[in-house]
Amino acid sequence: MKFRPVANIQASELMDMGGTAVKQPLPTVKVEQVDPFLLLHHFGPTQVEPGTDPLDVGPHPHRGFEPVTFLYEGSIRHKDSRGNEGLLSGGDVQWMTAGRGIIHSERASKSFLREGGRMHGIQLWVNLPKAHKMAQPDYQDIKSDSIPVVKLDGGQARLRVVAGELGGQKGAARTFTPVNAFQLSLEQGAYAEIPIPKTHNALIYIVSGSVQLNENWSYEQEHLLQFKNEGEGIALRGKSPATEVLVLSGQPIGEPVTQWGPYVMNTQTEIMEAMRDYQMGKMGFYTEY
Ligand code: MN
Repeated sequence: MKFRPVANIQASELMDMGGTAVKQPLPTVKVEQVDPFLLLHHFGPTQVEPGTDPLDVGPHPHRGFEPVTFLYEGSIRHKDSRGNEGLLSGGDVQWMTAGRGIIHSERASKSFLREGGRMHGIQLWVNLPKAHKMAQPDYQDIKSDSIPVVKLDGGQARLRVVAGELGGQKGAARTFTPVNAFQLSLEQGAYAEIPIPKTHNALIYIVSGSVQLNENWSYEQEHLLQFKNEGEGIALRGKSPATEVLVLSGQPIGEPVTQWGPYVMNTQTEIMEAMRDYQMGKMGFYTEY
């Protein structure tokens, strides 16, 4: 018995990152969240001329959740009000805990600006429960080669265990609640069975290519499937060469969600507090390069 899809969402396009098309399959009018996953942005793939920053996201605050960046291609520099600086390259993941508050920027790296190239990635917002919304901010800079890989179907299907656990491999990222985040690469025809705990809410996002789900219907890239919590997991078969799928599942937090811009809290009062704390400098200060 397999998890069955309850929603099939085609990513809508936004234009809010330096003119780069950003696709947003979550949230939508139909699906507010797949608790604990709040938002999914897919930027690129886009070919960028030298001297152009396809991201150019200047300093802005966050509180109450974890913004996670999966970079497929390109190079991004990160800087925040906690003194963290980082450089992400293709295959790297940045798992940030905004917690009580952080101010950060995300821009193309200096070498990318100089040389241009392809930029392609995903940003995911993972909610935090009330008990951890005001946690100390944290920044996990996860290099590609530190992410465990589980090979299936004679190596034609590869699952990178970013968070959670799969096939006895523990994910590279620490999380506050049980979350599985797997990056699946499928050759054409390759088959992967992925177990999902019944207690988890689950979704997949097809980053590129196309897949057949549970040996049944096929789905194209830039679609998000939300699943019903019943069964042992899902089965995916690659229907085109170099298919990439982001597989996400997590134990639902089950608390009220109040979001305003970059803050995700439980109540309107807490949102007001976040705005005030940011104004008062309680999320630290960000200095430009
Ligand atoms: Mn941000």
